[in-house]
Amino acid sequence: MNLHEYQGKEILSSFGVRIQRGIVAQNAHEAVAAAKQLTTETGTSWYVIKAQVHAGGRGKGGGVKLAKNLKEVESIAEDIIGMNLITPQTSAEGKKVHQVLVAEDVYYPGDNEPDEFYMSVLLNRTSGRNMIMYSTEGGMDIETVAEETPHLIFTEEIDPSVGILPFQARRVAFNLGLSGMAFKEMVKFVMALYTAYVKSDASLFEINPVLKTSDDKIMAVDAKVTLDDNALYRHKNYVDMRDIREENPIEVEAKEVGLNYVDLDGNVGCMVNGAGLAMATMDLIKQAGGEPANFLDVGGTADAKRVETAFRIILKDPNVKAILINIFGGIVRCDRVAQGVVDAYKNMGDAIKIPIIVRLQGTNADIAKELIDNSGLDVQSAVLFQEAADKVQAVLA
Ligand code: GDP
Ligand code: MN
Repeated sequence: MNLHEYQGKEILSSFGVRIQRGIVAQNAHEAVAAAKQLTTETGTSWYVIKAQVHAGGRGKGGGVKLAKNLKEVESIAEDIIGMNLITPQTSAEGKKVHQVLVAEDVYYPGDNEPDEFYMSVLLNRTSGRNMIMYSTEGGMDIETVAEETPHLIFTEEIDPSVGILPFQARRVAFNLGLSGMAFKEMVKFVMALYTAYVKSDASLFEINPVLKTSDDKIMAVDAKVTLDDNALYRHKNYVDMRDIREENPIEVEAKEVGLNYVDLDGNVGCMVNGAGLAMATMDLIKQAGGEPANFLDVGGTADAKRVETAFRIILKDPNVKAILINIFGGIVRCDRVAQGVVDAYKNMGDAIKIPIIVRLQGTNADIAKELIDNSGLDVQSAVLFQEAADKVQAVLA
């Protein structure tokens, strides 16, 4: 689950990571009230208004703006809320902005080269350890830094069973070229950041930029946080942070009916049981010259009801030109699945206007094939994997 910047900062702050203070606002009126409150709490008189969407690069797209008084807070908030924000990380259509974060201005006026660092915490799957990735080149796109100046990116690996050791945090501060008070602040920042990552069961914390203020404080100015969905049951207070307006609507619907669905860009819809077979089926479609339109694992109980639900979800994607059903009847019998397919097809009236190819293997596969072939419907059956691929290729041609 991805979070908004303001939610990520809330989590960071709760673990003692210093953050740029801010208050979220749903409209210009709330933005002005938020600014006033920030002035009371922090003494700031300048503010940054930041679009809250699940995408980075907001600054470049015009979604982060400096306001020097309350009038500007109001007009900038008015402009940003409701806008369609296009950034290097959104699709070409952009993302609609529903809310802004009104934050204290933490940059020193007139400082053209503030000390901005990059820092992220994530899992290194190869070594099986957590990793802090950091760089002196903050505030810019880390992919560009990795490409052009890879020697300016450092990593610190942490054994999850031991946790972060103080010398590791000191090494980070040293490599970032800090000394004195800023050095001590960075050590505290890194220790707290790592603790927050572990305790919140996150899979990614990315802070870009981490700022060294003019009075040598270290703070998170931005926060991209991804939480591990499988651990959410341990964090009831984070569950409400889900903002489904930011998620793919078909995926949200699939989740509600208990289907494992991931939307993709291609034209062949897939309905498969088991994640491994689903992956293999996607490979097969690609080999046959198609592109999978989705990943869909219908699970073990592929009865008529479930097959129909899966059909409806797949057909919501207007790019789908054919559907390949690939099901292995191990526990569930193939004839029952075939009956499910036929019943679902009939139930849906004329909702299905594209060719369907069905491959059923396993228990009672022969009876299943007969059922499909004698159904009188526009459904083709296949026995072998390759045969299914050829039929997909034929209908796409
Ligand atoms: P992103 O573009 O989506 O990564 O959003 P960020 O939160 O990183 O903000 C973009 C840029 O806005 C930062 O790199 C900063 O240069 C700038 N920015 C953020 N906060 C402040 C602030 O308090 N004052 C000023 N002057 N600039 C800020
Ligand atoms: Mn950023």
